Amino acid sequence: MDFSLSEEHLMIQQAARDFAQQELLPEVIERDEEQRFPIEQVKKLGELGFMGMMVDPKYNGSGMDTLSYVIAMEELSKIDASASVVVSVNNSLVCYGLETYGTEEQKQKYLTRLASGEVIGAFCLSEPEAGSDATSQKTTAIDKGDHYILNGTKNWITNGNTAEVYLVIAQTDREKGHKGINALIVEKGMEGFEIGPKENKLGIRGSDTHSLIFNDVKVPKTNRIGADGFGFKFAMKTLAGGRIGIAAQALGIAAGAYELALKYSKERKAFGTEISNHQAIAFKLADMHTQIEAARHLVYKAAVDKDNDHNYDLSGAMAKLYASQVAMETTVEAVQIHGGNGFVKDYHVERLMRDAKITQIYEGTSEIQKIVISRSILKD
Ligand SMILES: Cc1cc2nc3c(=O)[nH]c(=O)nc-3n(C[C@H](O)[C@H](O)[C@H](O)COP(=O)(O)OP(=O)(O)OC[C@H]3O[C@@H](n4cnc5c(N)ncnc54)[C@H](O)[C@@H]3O)c2cc1C
Repeated sequence: MDFSLSEEHLMIQQAARDFAQQELLPEVIERDEEQRFPIEQVKKLGELGFMGMMVDPKYNGSGMDTLSYVIAMEELSKIDASASVVVSVNNSLVCYGLETYGTEEQKQKYLTRLASGEVIGAFCLSEPEAGSDATSQKTTAIDKGDHYILNGTKNWITNGNTAEVYLVIAQTDREKGHKGINALIVEKGMEGFEIGPKENKLGIRGSDTHSLIFNDVKVPKTNRIGADGFGFKFAMKTLAGGRIGIAAQALGIAAGAYELALKYSKERKAFGTEISNHQAIAFKLADMHTQIEAARHLVYKAAVDKDNDHNYDLSGAMAKLYASQVAMETTVEAVQIHGGNGFVKDYHVERLMRDAKITQIYEGTSEIQKIVISRSILKD
C-alpha cells in the first residue's frame, strides 16, 4: 500500500491551491458578509475543468477520478467553502447523476453544458416537511401521458437562483411509497416554476440557498431520469457519492483553519515567547494535525472505493461523519489559538468556524450518517 499521491494528483492539488489563493481569497470576506455568490470565480472554475471533473471528456468533462475531485475540493474549501459547495453539488450530485443514470439525449442536452461550467445545476430533494425523512415527499409529479405536472415546494436548495438545470425529486404514485417517486429534469424559466427568497445563513453565506415553488409545471416525460419509480433510489445513490465531496469540503475547512492557526502561533508572542512554545497551544496543534490526517485518510479511502467500483456507502458515510466533526472541532480551536483576533473577520478563522457547521447537516446529518454506518456494520 502506497500512501503517496501520483504526479497527476499533485498537479491537480497545486492547480486548485493556486486558484484558491489567486481567485478565491480576494474578497472572500466581503462575499461572505454581503452574501454574494462567487459568479466570476465559478465561471473560471468551469473554464479550468473543475465543474465536471469526473465526467467523460465526450460530454465536456475532465475525465478525472474521484480522488482528483476530493483533492481539489480540499484545496478550494481551505479558502472558500461557499465556492466549493457549488463545485460539489455540480460535480457529485448533478453531473454524476445525469452521467450515470441519464439517457444519451439528456446527456447531450444538459450534461455537456453542466460539465463545461457553461451552466450550473441544483439537486432538489429537501422539502419543508421532508429533510432527513426524504421518503415523505409532498411534491407531486402527476403522470399525464407524455408529460408530468409538477406541484410543490422544495427548500434549502443550493444554487437555487443561479442554476439553470434542476434535478427535482417528486412523488408520482403515493400508494407505492418510495417506489412511486421520480426524478425529473426541470429547466429555469419553465412556466409555473418560481424561485423563492434567499436564505440568510450562518455560514457558506456566499452560496445561493433558496426555496423553489412549482405550480403546475409541465415537464416532458423525456426529462425523467431512469425508469418510472426510480427517483428515490436515484437520490440515495447520488447522495452516497455526494457525501464524499462534502467530507472533502469539511476536510478542507479543517485544514485551512489549522494552517492559519499554525502560522499565527509562530508569530504571536505572549509572556516573552511565541505562543506555539506554550505546551497548551502546541498540544492543540498536535491534536488538530492528527485528526486532520485521519480525516484525510477516510476521505481518500471513500474516493478510492468509488474509483475502484467498491461499495462506498459505508466509507463515504464514515468520511463525512468524521471529517465534519473534525472541521467543527478544529475551527473552534483555531479561533481559540487566535485569541481576540480569532473573533473578528480579518483573520478568516471565524468564517471557517461558521462554514464548518453545515458539513454536519447537509447531504445527511451526522445522526443520519450514524444510521447508515450502524446499519451497514450490523447487517451481517
Ligand atoms: C445551507 C443548506 C444547503 C442545503 N442544500 C440542499 C440542496 O442543495 N438540496 C437539498 O435537497 N437539500 C439541501 N439542504 C437540506 C439538507 O440536506 C437538510 O437540511 C438535512 O438533510 C436535514 O433535514 P432537515 O433540515 O429537515 O432536518 P430534520 O430532518 O428535521 O432533522 C432535525 C434533527 O433531527 C435529527 N433526526 C432526524 N431524523 C432522525 C433519526 N431517524 N434519528 C436520529 N436523529 C434524527 C437530525 O439529525 C437533526 O439533528 C441544504 C440545507 C442547508 C441548511
